[in-house]
Amino acid sequence: MIMPIANIAIIGAGTMGQGITQLCAQYGYTTWLYDVQDGAAEKTRQRIVQALDKRVTKGRMTPEDADAALARVSVANSLVELAEADLVVEAIVENIAIKRTLFAELEGLCRADVLLCTNTSSLSVGEIAAELHTPQRFAGLHFFNPPTAMKLVEVVSTDATTKTTLQTLHDFARSLGKTPVAVSDSPGFIVNRCARPFYGEALWLLEHGAASVATIDACLKSGGGFPLGPFELIDLVGLDINLRATETVWRAFDRHPRFRPSPLVADKVAADELGRKGGVGFYRYD
Ligand code: NAD
Repeated sequence: MIMPIANIAIIGAGTMGQGITQLCAQYGYTTWLYDVQDGAAEKTRQRIVQALDKRVTKGRMTPEDADAALARVSVANSLVELAEADLVVEAIVENIAIKRTLFAELEGLCRADVLLCTNTSSLSVGEIAAELHTPQRFAGLHFFNPPTAMKLVEVVSTDATTKTTLQTLHDFARSLGKTPVAVSDSPGFIVNRCARPFYGEALWLLEHGAASVATIDACLKSGGGFPLGPFELIDLVGLDINLRATETVWRAFDRHPRFRPSPLVADKVAADELGRKGGVGFYRYD
């Protein structure tokens, strides 16, 4: 039986948690946002207020619809408050041990029919679920950045994910105006796998002094037809997230040079230059 979905819990109030929460609220779902960092979810709710205001100013939404969307966004102060959710979307740090611990806790808190999803970019969904007692209701639900704008959602199944879980997630993604695509649990799935060499070649050019950040971005946009250049995209994604995804795919392919992480990105992450979210990455955002 397909589960009706009304209440969504989003865990992790960073770049993706913000966008997924706003998206679900805009499409009529009651959303609860939780972050382990004190005050982070409330700050993100404020950012959602600003994002909705901007949509109203641009004439893309009525003030009434924006108010109604915002009224559907609540902040949870503990995981226990998420127990009534019908579907959980995890968008926390890209670390398998931390994700596993979180899902083990959620399994104990949520009803047995609640769907548990990870928004991981590159970790193995099956490995995240490996220690769960109910892996049949677990899947990857991979939104792209920014979730309010990007059409694609990769729905990642494991050997244990049931057809009902997958069908519910495909229907859910479509209810958000998205295009769900069924993908298997392979490193980087589809988009992030193909994106690794895209970033990698741009970084290789930069490492060798062949061209500047701005020139490479400009060429890929005006000559390659990409809406963003590779460095603009890395800044948007977050350098820490980009580096972790590259490392995961690289390791999964026995450190194949095609997926080699760039020291330029590693150095910037060490210097806390994480991209747009922190104000500095390959570009500055004042
Ligand atoms: P982010 O660094 O912007 O935010 C992560 C948030 O999770 C932080 O606010 C942090 O405090 C919180 N957090 C960490 N551990 C937690 C825990 N145990 N419980 C609750 N909250 C916790 O990260 P992001 O860019 O939003 O990425 C989140 C996930 O989405 C990652 O798995 C990432 O790979 C994936 N993803 C990212 C992008 C992107 O473009 N940034 C795109 C698709 C998927």
